[in-house]
Amino acid sequence: MAGAILCFDIGGTSIRAATAVNGARPGKVDRFATPATDREAFLARISAIAEAQPERPAAIAISLAGIVNPQTGRLVVANIPAIHGTELKTDLEARMDMPVIIANDADCFAVAEAVFGAGRGHDIVFGVIFGTGVGGGLVSGKHLINKAGGFAGEWGHGPVVPLAAGGRPIPHFACGCGVSGCVDTIAGGPGLERLHTFLHGEALSAPDILSGWHAGRREPTLTVKTCLELLSGPLAMAINLTGATIVPAGGGLARDHAFVAAIDEAVRPLTLARQRHPLVVPAASGGEPGLAGAAAIGFQTLAADPD
Ligand SMILES: [Zn+2]
Repeated sequence: MAGAILCFDIGGTSIRAATAVNGARPGKVDRFATPATDREAFLARISAIAEAQPERPAAIAISLAGIVNPQTGRLVVANIPAIHGTELKTDLEARMDMPVIIANDADCFAVAEAVFGAGRGHDIVFGVIFGTGVGGGLVSGKHLINKAGGFAGEWGHGPVVPLAAGGRPIPHFACGCGVSGCVDTIAGGPGLERLHTFLHGEALSAPDILSGWHAGRREPTLTVKTCLELLSGPLAMAINLTGATIVPAGGGLARDHAFVAAIDEAVRPLTLARQRHPLVVPAASGGEPGLAGAAAIGFQTLAADPD
């Protein structure tokens, strides 16, 4: 656990960076613009941030909204063309001569919850994201199931949503992944908005749908109830499959703790375990799950391979 890890949370518009020391969560966060289209500028920006540290870090750990293809080592990261399709780990290690660890942001979230958050004390932690998309990460014994990258925990995709809810037919909407009927198409911010437009013929933002639900308005309430009915079966199935005893929820919609509680209420009776305490719970690892998870994965990697 010795040494410092320079952690990055990299999005399409901004890079957040912080240093974590001796296994603790990262400290003060600095922000930089993402050179999103220029590969050389991107690599130079990361190098410059590392070189500006008062002490040379033992490793770099990066959280980003993409997937490392475990077969090729290449990144699939749609919103950062500068590094999409590249071997970022190899490129950065060659440039800086230090270990570089790259992990998906939902995976970082799940590890952050297992190590610092609501998953403490649980062996199997299934972190779920209700943000611009629906994602997830799967952790056992504080370690990611898919250490080499890949798609474990991605319960938001697959042709699984029921074709009716509340006694009326619901179509299988086309998903960005190429399949139709994914949970991603009806939950998360854009999914909730799509469902509301389908049910009521009006456009309403996800925050307005949730606040309308809290205010007891008929249309938003029906949208939220329909969403819960559609997502609860697939989520219960994912929980049965993984054996998770805690499901921390993150992402923009999960900041609404009443929404998370409603998901828990809808899902728990459908699981085989039917545990008595809450299963789907609000995230509790703090405001920077990408940085915290990257730090934890970085320290785990260094401990496993100190050289
Ligand atoms: Zn999909």
